[in-house]
Amino acid sequence: MIIAYISGMNKKDRIHLLKQLDQKAFQSEIAGLWPLARGSLTLIRKPCVRPGCPACAKGVKHSAYILMARDKGLRRCLYVPRELAPLLRQALRNGKVLERRLGQMAMQMILAYRAQRRRQTRRPR
Ligand SMILES: [Zn+2]
Repeated sequence: MIIAYISGMNKKDRIHLLKQLDQKAFQSEIAGLWPLARGSLTLIRKPCVRPGCPACAKGVKHSAYILMARDKGLRRCLYVPRELAPLLRQALRNGKVLERRLGQMAMQMILAYRAQRRRQTRRPR
């Protein structure tokens, strides 16, 4: 029913409606993707700076989480508090799902538009 309605529209109205339909579907799909973040979380092992640290003296390195992220093209590295790591990891996973979905959406928009245009041109005038 919506398709028949769309195919009777002009190009500008068709694009406008296509935008709205995609927005609602997309918003409900990504509603559960929170928290969101982009970057990479790495567990590193290194000696600390405390003088006379018994662990370092034995050659046992300390582990720490590092977040690597880009901001305006610049790479930034930040230490991540250990207790924050699980939540941040979830945010990064969600961010990947969102990025993948955005890539698919560009293709879906083009394919949906082409399909609508094909339906319209196939119809006898
Ligand atoms: Zn140490």
